[in-house]
Amino acid sequence: MATPTLARHLVTEIPGPQSQAAQQRRLRTVAAGVSSGLPVFVESAGAGLLHDVDGNTLVDLGSGIAVTSVGNAAPAVVAAVQEQVAKFTHTCFMVTPYDAYVDVCEQLAELTPGSHEKRSALFNSGAEAVENAVKIARHATGRQAVVVFDHAYHGRTNLTMALTAKNMPYKHRFGPFAPEVYRLPMSYPFRDPAGLTGEQAAARALDQLEKQVGADNVACVLIEPIQGEGGFVVPAPGFLKAVADWCRAKGVLFVADEIQTGFCRTGAWFASEHEGVVPDLVTTAKGIAGGLPLAAVTGRAEVMDAVHGGGLGGTYGGNPVACAAALASIGIMRDEDLNARAKAIEEITLPRLRELAAGIPAIGDVRGRGAMLAVELVKPGTSEPDAELTGRIAKACHARGVVVLTAGTYGNVLRLLPPLVIPTDVLNDGLDVLAEAIQITIR
Ligand SMILES: *Cc1c(COP(=O)(O)O)cnc(C)c1O
Repeated sequence: MATPTLARHLVTEIPGPQSQAAQQRRLRTVAAGVSSGLPVFVESAGAGLLHDVDGNTLVDLGSGIAVTSVGNAAPAVVAAVQEQVAKFTHTCFMVTPYDAYVDVCEQLAELTPGSHEKRSALFNSGAEAVENAVKIARHATGRQAVVVFDHAYHGRTNLTMALTAKNMPYKHRFGPFAPEVYRLPMSYPFRDPAGLTGEQAAARALDQLEKQVGADNVACVLIEPIQGEGGFVVPAPGFLKAVADWCRAKGVLFVADEIQTGFCRTGAWFASEHEGVVPDLVTTAKGIAGGLPLAAVTGRAEVMDAVHGGGLGGTYGGNPVACAAALASIGIMRDEDLNARAKAIEEITLPRLRELAAGIPAIGDVRGRGAMLAVELVKPGTSEPDAELTGRIAKACHARGVVVLTAGTYGNVLRLLPPLVIPTDVLNDGLDVLAEAIQITIR
């Protein structure tokens, strides 16, 4: 194989002929319900670049949905995985344990918000972590109701579909859904009445909660500190704190779903830190292990340890290879100060997006933190969502070899989630293409 280029480089249309052929083959065996936003078949990938089967090199501003924060096939992760996979691949931690699982739990105790005594349990996917956080919260409190928010995304299993807000594509015709799930209005500064503070938005939600559910029935309030699939909604300052304070006063557990926001993505280890909030339980996954499947619930020792022995687990949860990858990934985050890198990405990207927005009335809002940034597209002069325009801009980026993702309840948010190790010139090239794609598409 030729040495891959270190910059965007297109030699065919996108997707190229080999990808198109692979896509035809895939349609004959892969279920139609599993679709791909950009059917370019990848051969190898690195820090901010994807190399496809046609010899094209694309800029990656998606990180496989906020997963490859430390880069794709990061050398330290590859070495750790290779070393572990040659020693043993599985014992099942519930049968015979191993150190790497405990090492990951030590890291989680140290890095998640708060200096209290903590325990963790490891799983395979974000949805599984969220399910287990709810199990633990219900068991520890003896209460059943679970409270979530508008625009929330928590996964695709039965319980997490119930927790997720958006019908299409996540829930449509997949019911019935799990009971005892209640949804409250989110703080969404771009769409809330002008001037509504975080505290006021919290009061609006908590009043509804007290009247419709009753604090005594609530096991936990589950919230993404910055919403991911819901459109990178950053709640107004003070909102999270007010909700967390209410929870503490009422004996309700505050659960932060940091699956997308965690592990340096927003320029802090966890996004709760920006608001000075210490959750009772934190769910993590995505960025934790450089692309290998691993997830966790981390929380107050007395809450986590309330569950009886054997009450939590799973065959593969905390697989040793995934744990080795997590330890290597966390090592990179520390050694290369990826929180600083995420902030630097924000400093490069936000001004460019704001400058674009100033001249383009279809950009209703620019928001986000660190390397989790988005533009929300609307019909000019209104706040009416424009999903069609958003889709066309994403397609124009794809055609030019830049992977961007869309999001939002209304499908009108373009979101950027570059690997935190993306070289600055690659990032700037991706942003140049995005700007060009927007300019060309709005004409
Ligand atoms: C992706 C995501 C999940 C679900 O994680 P999976 O690994 O896809 O099951 C849950 N919560 C949030 C906030 C997410 O971004």
